[in-house]
Amino acid sequence: MSDSPIWHPFTQHGLGEEIPLVTRAEGAALHTSDGRRIVDGISSWWVTTHGHCHPRIMAAIAAQTEKLDQIIFAGWTHEPAETLARGLVEIMPAALTRIFFSDSGSTSVEVALKMALGYWANRGAPRGRILVLQHSYHGDTIGAMSVGARGVFNQAYTPLLFDVGTVPFPAAGQEQATLDALEAACREHPAAFIVEPLILGAGGMLIYPARVLAEMRAICARHDVIFIADEVMTGWGRTGTLLACEQADVVPDILCLSKGLTGGAVPLAVTLATEAIYAAHLSTDRARMFFHSSSYTANPIACAAANANLAIWREEPVQERVADLGVRQRGRLAALAGHPAVRNARSIGTIAALELGSGEGSYLSQLGPKLLGFFRERDLLIRPLGNTIYVMPPYCIGDDDLDAIYAAIAEASSWLEMS
Ligand SMILES: *Cc1c(COP(=O)(O)O)cnc(C)c1O
Repeated sequence: MSDSPIWHPFTQHGLGEEIPLVTRAEGAALHTSDGRRIVDGISSWWVTTHGHCHPRIMAAIAAQTEKLDQIIFAGWTHEPAETLARGLVEIMPAALTRIFFSDSGSTSVEVALKMALGYWANRGAPRGRILVLQHSYHGDTIGAMSVGARGVFNQAYTPLLFDVGTVPFPAAGQEQATLDALEAACREHPAAFIVEPLILGAGGMLIYPARVLAEMRAICARHDVIFIADEVMTGWGRTGTLLACEQADVVPDILCLSKGLTGGAVPLAVTLATEAIYAAHLSTDRARMFFHSSSYTANPIACAAANANLAIWREEPVQERVADLGVRQRGRLAALAGHPAVRNARSIGTIAALELGSGEGSYLSQLGPKLLGFFRERDLLIRPLGNTIYVMPPYCIGDDDLDAIYAAIAEASSWLEMS
């Protein structure tokens, strides 16, 4: 595809990397134009939960296309969005009573930040500072980048990024330092604290204890700081429960969901808020409304896909599949953990991760592209973050495909030992 005009995301075209043409997908498999079957070990960048082209989601999309494709959502509504909002209120924590639609994880975060500042402004006590956790990732738009880790991927855009307060990551043994730093920062009346619950995804699959999440939430509540949970990656079963927050008995003030919301089939996002945050915008004064929209807000076809996802969660044993995948991942990970080139083998729910080699990890680690090529030659979609390899497959993945992934990781670690 070297004559293609396409400029791909997070791709250095100057390296001449081969870009496979995918023609169809089902379950955990991608099929390419040259007849290869690729195992999707990362759920197509963390979105595909139940499997590609899930029949119920595809049928819901097809049925919706015969009725209503798209409609303005400011001042108008439609059945798929109404059903979805009610379904979400039913399945999500009871305190989250209001649903705002958007179309990507990044936008759901932008919406969350604007809701937080709007809340304080409308109460006549404006606050502007956002607290974040070190190594976080919340998306690639300007606001989402601002609340995420700074690094090579956003260095050029620094002049556009706003200043935030950063709390150190609660690494093992350092938890109290994190809590103390958060407590101190909360005394200065920031607007909100945004956090990826239990595991920082793009930051390197960094896991921290539920107890720390619960403590961080309690500190924010004590100081009247809005607690935003970004569950764009962790939501929909990824960490073993519907939400990662559940494992810490945490209910946020604002919750961001996207990736698995439609089962990963089509783009859609929601930002859920408590009644207090909604009420701060409720008035007869039009200047206090929530000033946010995008053209495709609550697109009916995307909402129909999300309704099918909710039906799958209600009617199929998704929790069991998630638990079972966790067990199958951990067994294979344990078998790898003794390998000399493997460090920090860890897992949570359906996610397993490890570092390969002795080098300090960085996104531009020379190892990353080599490993990407190594896995691609073995018909596996595994996309390391620097020298961090992680496995995050669709919940339907079979044992043979998992075996192929872990055999390749073992082979890669042996290959590293030799080179
Ligand atoms: C992927 C991700 C986002 C951004 O979602 P997009 O749909 O890619 O914009 C935000 N937060 C977290 C935690 C993510 O993993």
